[in-house]
Amino acid sequence: RKLGIALVGLGQYSEGELAPALEKTENCRLAGIVTGTPEKAETWKKKYNIPDKNVYDYKTFDQIADNPDIDIVYVVLPNSLHAEYTIRAAKAGKHVICEKPMAMNAEECQQMIDACKKANRQLSIGYRLHFEPHHQEMMRLGQKETFGKVNRIIAHNGQVQDAKNLWRLGKGIGGGGPLRDVGVYCLQGAIYTKGQLPIAVSAKLHPVTDPEKFSNVEEGIDFTLYFADDTTAECRASFNDKYNQLRAEAANGWFELSPAYGYSGLEGKTSKGKMDIENVPQQARQMDAFANCILTNTPTTVPGEMGMRDVQLIEAVFKAARTGQKVPTPNLVEILDKS
Ligand code: NAD
Repeated sequence: RKLGIALVGLGQYSEGELAPALEKTENCRLAGIVTGTPEKAETWKKKYNIPDKNVYDYKTFDQIADNPDIDIVYVVLPNSLHAEYTIRAAKAGKHVICEKPMAMNAEECQQMIDACKKANRQLSIGYRLHFEPHHQEMMRLGQKETFGKVNRIIAHNGQVQDAKNLWRLGKGIGGGGPLRDVGVYCLQGAIYTKGQLPIAVSAKLHPVTDPEKFSNVEEGIDFTLYFADDTTAECRASFNDKYNQLRAEAANGWFELSPAYGYSGLEGKTSKGKMDIENVPQQARQMDAFANCILTNTPTTVPGEMGMRDVQLIEAVFKAARTGQKVPTPNLVEILDKS
């Protein structure tokens, strides 16, 4: 049986990526939608053949509890709404995929984890790159120390943010900013390439060149993760410049992805030559993997606890930027995707 997924929030990512990906999945299908815009509901119902009974708005959302067609709720809302809808989905008895970053702070993450545990439902984060073969190769080369011990990681992710994308700029509902939005990929990439958790972080905000656009969120940020064996990961996230790289320098060579974080077109190289790896439909793989975890009652490799770990790190990076101090990361949730 294919598990039914309901997408909550029909914005750019649901429309452009997740819905088309759900036409390529084997273990799950697009069964329902949750939207506050009636015109969108009409378009989606026709395009994806969704029956009226599987269409909800934000007020009727909790009635999804009575709908056996929906097994998984996928929260694709602005970041500041992730906690509320994940908790409501768990209370409705559904498994949940929540988009990155998991939530606004570690307390919210804990409440989301607790709600899913209490309902005996699985929670995963929309970390598509864990299911992407170039990134799986970075994990393997780094964690197995194929080129020797990894000493230095460089993880840069930046894009020029459109002034109209209000919540990403912290306006209206808020919850945006480059560290949360694109910097989370740098954190993730550094940790799964090294296969360890950092013990401290330092950070410095970029100067603000566009005060109107960046009145509520940082324009960009440089941050360093320090690992126990003296490895450093130099990370950079920006909403005002383009970069897209994950690189590891090791005792006997190097390996890198550039571009690293897109939905397709990833390219990998090592000091021994090109990585001969195909691009795959990332979101279809990610959703199929989660559906398979539910069908076989096995844990996901990208659970809520990993989302919480990264939110804890984001909080530590902001603290380091605020204080100008190197901040230790003592109480991180101990979780890694082991190659
Ligand atoms: P978006 O702004 O295009 O879509 C957000 C949707 O939420 C819109 O349809 C909007 O109408 C709806 N919404 C409901 N209540 C709202 C409210 N009170 N205020 C504002 N909007 C409200 O954003 P998006 O790019 O689709 O991103 C959604 C989520 O998906 C974010 O958490 C983002 O980080 C994540 N995302 C993940 C990836 C990935 O590669 N994993 C890529 C893009 C986005």
